[in-house]
Amino acid sequence: MKKRRLIIATHNKGKFNEMKMVLKDHLDEIYSLQDINDHYRVEEDGPSYVENAMKKARKIGERWGLFTLADDSGLEVKSLGGRPGIYSSRYGKTDEERIERLLLELAGIPEEQRDAVFKAYLAFYMPEQERSYIFYGYLKGYISFEKKGTKGFGFDPVFYVPSLKKHLAELTAEEKNKISHRGRALTAFKDFLAGSIF
Ligand code: IMP
Repeated sequence: MKKRRLIIATHNKGKFNEMKMVLKDHLDEIYSLQDINDHYRVEEDGPSYVENAMKKARKIGERWGLFTLADDSGLEVKSLGGRPGIYSSRYGKTDEERIERLLLELAGIPEEQRDAVFKAYLAFYMPEQERSYIFYGYLKGYISFEKKGTKGFGFDPVFYVPSLKKHLAELTAEEKNKISHRGRALTAFKDFLAGSIF
């Protein structure tokens, strides 16, 4: 049988590790952009997560002629009118800067108004068929006043998950994948792979 090979089109190590962990037993080979030495950066200039995810997956999939999975995700904070949203990665230069800016913008906002949601859109591109599929997941929680935990990436230290009474950065990658936006989207993608003949 033909080997099932997949490129995960991201330069974000945190995202790559979470994605590989869920998918490793369901595909024969998984490559990061680093593994294949591809330094190409896809401009994330689309008006939505879906368009950005599809653009990333298609550009890389076409370059290599291989199945490609890309993630576009972001954090939406209710009292900020949904910001930073699709601009989450451009909210600051480093994770530290992005967190500091978020906490500053939320200064004075009480606990009950700090609701937020993480959204993840995965785009799967099949070059031979020239076809894309989208998988979605979300996670609701609150932005805390203080950072807690050292695991994960991005806004994880300030994202509080009420059902677990923990910050995302306190969870192992396995624990995070069970409940997270990306983990849920990955589960849907896994189900799609299990039922496909490709
Ligand atoms: P992009 O999808 O490359 O545009 O980047 C999404 C940005 O959203 C990341 O750089 C993080 O700042 C944030 N983000 C997305 N998913 C997560 C997550 O699981 N934990 C923490 N931050 C995240």
